[in-house]
Amino acid sequence: MTLSRRTLFRGGVVLGGAVALDRRDPPLALADDSAMVVRQATNIALSHHGGIGRIVFDAVNSLWLLPVAGGSARRLTDDAEDATWPSFFPDGKRVAFQSFRDGAYDICAVDLSSRKVERLTSGPQYDLDPSVSPDGRRLVHVSDTGGRSAVWLLHLDSGCPRSLVGADDDRSYHAPTWHPDGDRIAYVAGEGTIETLHLPSGRRKVLHTAPEGQWFRGTSYGPGGELAYILVDGPRATLYLDGRALTGRDEEPAQLPPAWISRKELAYGADGEIRRRAIDGSGLQAIPFSVALAPPGRPPRIRTPLAPPKESTVRGVAGPALSPDASSVCFRAMGALWLLRLGGKAEKIVDDGYFSSDPAWFPDGRSIVYSSDRSGVPNLWRHTFGGGDERLTDLPNGAMVPSVAPTGDRIAFQDESGATHVLDVASGKTRQIAEATYFPGKPSWSPDGRRVAMAVVEAASERDTAGHNHIMVVDTETGKATTQPVAPHRSIATRGDDGPVWSPDGASMLAVIESLVHRVPVASDGTVTGAPVALSPMVADSVSVSAEGNVLFLSLGKLVLLGDRQYVPPITCTMPDPPPRKVIRAGALWDGRSDGYRNDVDITVEDGVITAVEDARPENTPSVEATTVIPGLIDVHNHWHFRGRQWGSRQGPLWLAYGVTTSRSTGDPAYHMLETREAIHSGARVGPRFLGSGEPLDGSRCYFGFMRCVTSEEQLLRELQRIIGLDYNVVKSYQRLPVALERTLVRHLRRAGIPVVSHYLYPAVATGLNGMEHTGGGNRLGYSRTLSAAGGRTADDTIQLLSESHMWVSSTLLFAHEMFLETPDLIEDRRTKVLFPWWEYERLLEKVREAPDNEINKAWTEGDVDLLLRVHKAGGTVVAGTDAPLDDVGVGIHQNLRAMVKYGFSPREALQTATTNAARCLGASDLGVVRPGARADLLAIDGDPLNDINDAARIERVFVDGRSYRIPELLAPFEDLTTPRGASTPAPRLHGCCRIQKGK
Ligand SMILES: [Zn+2]
Ligand SMILES: [Zn+2]
Repeated sequence: MTLSRRTLFRGGVVLGGAVALDRRDPPLALADDSAMVVRQATNIALSHHGGIGRIVFDAVNSLWLLPVAGGSARRLTDDAEDATWPSFFPDGKRVAFQSFRDGAYDICAVDLSSRKVERLTSGPQYDLDPSVSPDGRRLVHVSDTGGRSAVWLLHLDSGCPRSLVGADDDRSYHAPTWHPDGDRIAYVAGEGTIETLHLPSGRRKVLHTAPEGQWFRGTSYGPGGELAYILVDGPRATLYLDGRALTGRDEEPAQLPPAWISRKELAYGADGEIRRRAIDGSGLQAIPFSVALAPPGRPPRIRTPLAPPKESTVRGVAGPALSPDASSVCFRAMGALWLLRLGGKAEKIVDDGYFSSDPAWFPDGRSIVYSSDRSGVPNLWRHTFGGGDERLTDLPNGAMVPSVAPTGDRIAFQDESGATHVLDVASGKTRQIAEATYFPGKPSWSPDGRRVAMAVVEAASERDTAGHNHIMVVDTETGKATTQPVAPHRSIATRGDDGPVWSPDGASMLAVIESLVHRVPVASDGTVTGAPVALSPMVADSVSVSAEGNVLFLSLGKLVLLGDRQYVPPITCTMPDPPPRKVIRAGALWDGRSDGYRNDVDITVEDGVITAVEDARPENTPSVEATTVIPGLIDVHNHWHFRGRQWGSRQGPLWLAYGVTTSRSTGDPAYHMLETREAIHSGARVGPRFLGSGEPLDGSRCYFGFMRCVTSEEQLLRELQRIIGLDYNVVKSYQRLPVALERTLVRHLRRAGIPVVSHYLYPAVATGLNGMEHTGGGNRLGYSRTLSAAGGRTADDTIQLLSESHMWVSSTLLFAHEMFLETPDLIEDRRTKVLFPWWEYERLLEKVREAPDNEINKAWTEGDVDLLLRVHKAGGTVVAGTDAPLDDVGVGIHQNLRAMVKYGFSPREALQTATTNAARCLGASDLGVVRPGARADLLAIDGDPLNDINDAARIERVFVDGRSYRIPELLAPFEDLTTPRGASTPAPRLHGCCRIQKGK
């Protein structure tokens, strides 16, 4: 797919241009709604009414009214309504649609003349894809009421909904449509089938079956009972009419229902436009439109510090565990394990430079178990106070997040894939008790030592993998697992350290819910028996319990013993003294801004800052001589602790070894992030400058273990306390925060000077978010509003909104595996082979093996870079981000740069996305550039990266704040920690990525 192919189609069609306002329509709603006029929109859904000669379509998540001939569209709904998927009522006076205004999809209707919105459904379920019946008295839609994707019928007179099909099967449903006779509907069932249902008889019939690996979307019955629909095949989508293709490979219709303009003509969204064509395929035309939008909002001006002050009290207390007698707490801080006597001193108990984490107490209080990767992969070790460290497991797939049974003889733990096991301490034998689930929380034992509870994600339905964090209880004898919510439609805050933790009397479990610590009453088998009760109004994280039932949690960096008092960790985070003055002599210097190199340069570094950049002087004695020097690379989007335990101590050296000198997380478990940020800045751990964030804020549902469901303004204010109190460097509003809450979030962050990003472009632009992460990140709609759903094509609205606003866009080219085939050097590179845990290396090889045949990955990569390049050329800000460890740690930044260059960036332009541009989105003018006054973050490279981008990985030495690291030094601690005994092919990479794969 090339630019020319993409634009070719527009040659024969009329584009919007200056279309006169249709005088029959009232004027536009808001005076300032003309700051940006957009003439394309991505993934348009539309509905047509012949009687009034109008189309209603959704663009930028609002409904717009348009004459069939085209023109200036009239806004029907505001940004907060978050309206999509219109369906006309037969009288032409109202339009049904789906609204996310209240944080879950409801079916609503808007009156075209008054623009008053009526809510037809409400509640925590998602009601989607409405279609109004020919008589206007009924409506069919998809709903996930009761945890099942199903087609529902709503009688508008009675307001009474009932499920029609799907409530008793495990298929996902999409796009129901009414037959003109009013007795039948068609819908997509289980992705690959179109069925009909005869309502009076309940008879069902399969109408079409998609070939293997393909799926249907967007059904629409015509006036004569013909059925139009979309068939999706990898990166292609085709509009069909009763088995006959109407569109070719040169366009990509939106995966949404087409509208019938007449018996002979269809209208549909495709490649940013509304198009019409006759049902014989002829007469293709665009229906030009323009929509006028509010001006960009004012984003927070970034004022977050790049490093903590010279001395500060440690707040990064990761995984605190209260001792059985409630006198002491163990936790990870500043790269070590600590024992803190409450009210007394803290002492380091494990500190060998490897990743030691998640201490859990033995019941006698004399020792703890923890995991450490000092032997290559994380395994369990026992530390006896006043004694030594004894190894408990030697498992190739790792052993993490241990929990000791109340009897002290067994330990529950999880392997790298998320499967749960039990170790018999005396014999050393282990036994798997639960299959891998998607990033489960820490296990906790029942007081009788029979069961283990943990947080798991329960999908909302077959159509939505997101849902809530529930309690799973596993019987360790039988392996029987049961899953239940803490309360209907509520979530345990995160799947990590937030419980459930079984209370020692067995009558309750402790869990953090909506950022407050709660007691959840349970029966002896773990069944929830009542509503959760909040125990404290303090913002809470990481709950743990003593043998007497005392409850400990973290609140804004302090340890809180409930009913007792708060304890400030008596540990100081001290910045190290800067390295001595040095002169770096570069044969060639690229300063991050210039078009080319400056030859034979001396760079003087004092106190970590560049003080001079001058022609090489004979009287200077350089401490380092380099062929080429460029600014250190910045990765603006990663998740250090998404698999932080799995990558362990390798992660920091790996980022550095591949030239990343600043790494910004856009979402992590807050206290684990803080711990790593303090450990790196204080020099306790080796790694790039780390700027961090806590859990991204999601809405009524969530999926990743380190994201938070936020369901009310009251809770949002608690989240803001944590965000501001713990000094996040950025906040990610994830997929499901309603527009109104997001406005509140931005308002507060503007005051705090903390940038906020999301996956969305509009209304994020108007709300005042700072950036859009990914080119077409996961979307609550199930499809993107910035990239086409199948082929990843970009329409002009995306380019226009990104380049005319303040927002940056991050690259995160997660699917650029094809680059491994063209330039395989990074696979064989010592840095990859030594610093990747063996299972990650195996999965990397698997990606390489699959790359040649993966057509959709190639289409997406090409499409993603096309978007980035057009934004860049239009004057927007493109920044390099990897999304590692969803992409590969370290290696990913080079894959991003290489793919950019392959599809049109110059090497210099690509490098700027990871240097000067990236620095701008950190609010750091002293990063990403080599000039006096800038921080000395530099790469010494043996090559010519401005001519060959592959050379950017040929790094010999890395400087962060003037501190130097050579590659062999970074590799040394891991050289002998090769693949462990018994290692076999690991389980396939667990899915989970920010990109929508299939509109589920
Ligand atoms: Zn991400
Ligand atoms: Zn994302």
